[in-house]
Amino acid sequence: MHALLRDCRTGIPPQLEPVARAEGMDPARLTEALLRGMVCLPANPRHPCKAVPIGEGCLVKVNVNIGTSAPRCDHEQEMEKARAAIVNGADTLMDLSTAGDIPVLRKKILSLGVPVGTVPLYEAVRKAGSAVDVDPDLLFRVIREHCRDGVDFMTLHCGVNREAFDALIADPRLMGVVSRGGAFHLARMDQTGEENPLFSEFAYLLEILDEYDVVISLGDGMRPGSIHDAGRLAKTTEYLTLGKLSHICQEKGIQRLIEGPGHIPLSQVGYNVRIIKELTDHAPLYLLGPVVTDIAPGYDHVVAAIGSTIACMHGADFLCMVSPSEHLALPQLEDIVEGTRITRIAAHIGDGARKGVSWQEEKELPLVLARKDLDWEGQFRQALFGEHARSIHERDGATDTCSMCGDLCALKLVKDIFKRKRDEPEKKQQ
Ligand code: SF4
Repeated sequence: MHALLRDCRTGIPPQLEPVARAEGMDPARLTEALLRGMVCLPANPRHPCKAVPIGEGCLVKVNVNIGTSAPRCDHEQEMEKARAAIVNGADTLMDLSTAGDIPVLRKKILSLGVPVGTVPLYEAVRKAGSAVDVDPDLLFRVIREHCRDGVDFMTLHCGVNREAFDALIADPRLMGVVSRGGAFHLARMDQTGEENPLFSEFAYLLEILDEYDVVISLGDGMRPGSIHDAGRLAKTTEYLTLGKLSHICQEKGIQRLIEGPGHIPLSQVGYNVRIIKELTDHAPLYLLGPVVTDIAPGYDHVVAAIGSTIACMHGADFLCMVSPSEHLALPQLEDIVEGTRITRIAAHIGDGARKGVSWQEEKELPLVLARKDLDWEGQFRQALFGEHARSIHERDGATDTCSMCGDLCALKLVKDIFKRKRDEPEKKQQ
C-alpha cells in the first residue's frame, strides 16, 4: 500500500491540510477520497514537487506533454517548452521523449518542481531497438529506473492484451491503433505470440510501483483515432479490462489514474465518461482529448477544449493539453503556449460545471466589475492571460473605451445615463 494511503488510514495526514485548502476542500473529505481511490496525489517521495491532487472534489488539473522525437531532438527546446507550459497553467508535465539521451532530459524536467509523468515503454523500445525486441525484463528494469529517478506517475498500457487484440481483429477500425504505446504492445504480441507483460505480470508491476509510491496511469492504448471508430469493440474491451485492473489497484492500495477516451463524437462524451467512472470505481479520469471532430487539423486544441469541458461536466478530472500541431507535427514553443492556455480555460469552465455556478460567479466577479467600469488595468489583472488581453486592447492605441465601438461604447453610454440619474436628485435637493 502506498505510504500516503497508510497515513490516511490513521487520520488526516498534516501535509494534506494545505493541499485541501488550496482545492477548496475539507481535509477530511480529501483524506476519505484518497482512501476510496477517487482522488490520487502523484508524489514520488524521491521527487520534491508541488502537491497536485487529481479527482473528484478537486479542481480540474492540466497536464502538458513534452519530449524529443527522432526528427527534432533538442533538450534546450524541450526545457523551454516545459517552462512555458508551467507559466501558462500546466499542473503536471509528461516527458514523452523517444529520442536522444532520454534519462538526461527526464532528470532536467524533474528539476522543474511539478509532478512528472512518463511512458517507460518508449525508452525500452529505444534501448531494445524495436518494439518486438522489448523483453519483459528490460521493460520492468526501465520502469524501475524511472521510479528511482523520481517520476511521479507513469502511463502503462496494461489493457492492451490479447483479448483487446482479438476484439480489434473481430471488429476492425478505420484508423487501427493510434496510441504509440498500444501499437508497440500489439506489434510485440503479434510477433512473439506472447501476452503483454504489463497485463500478465500486473501483480509484479504493482509491487514495483508500491515500493516507490508511484501512481499508475492505466493507458488507453485502444482509444479510437477517429469518430468513425468510437463505437467499435476494442475500446470497450479495454474499458472492461481497465475496470478490473483499477479494482485490483484499489484493493492493493496503489493509487491510479484511468486514461480515455480519444476521438469520440460530442454526443457520446458524457456516457463514455460515466461508463469509465462506473467501471473503475470512480478512479480519477485523465482525458486525452476527447477530440470531437476529425475535420479541423490545426485547431485540434479548440476541438479538444470543447470535448473536455463537456467531459468535465460528467466527471473528468485531468486534461491533457492538446496543441494546434496535434496530428501534424511535434509542437513548437508557441504551440505549447497556445495549447496550454486553451486547455487551462477548458479546465476553468469544467471547474465551473463541477463546483457550481456560484463558485464560478465568485471567481469571475472581479473581472466583470472591472469590465463594467471600463477599468482596463483591473481587467488585465483579473484575466487568466492578462498580458495577451492587453496586447489586443492596445494595438489600436490605449483609450478609455476600445476600438470596437469607440465613441459609441454601449458600456460608457449606459454608465453615463446611470451617473446622470444618480447626480440629478442630488442637484434637485440643492
Ligand atoms: S467599445 Fe464596445 S466592445 Fe469596447 S468596451 Fe465599449 S461596448 Fe464593449
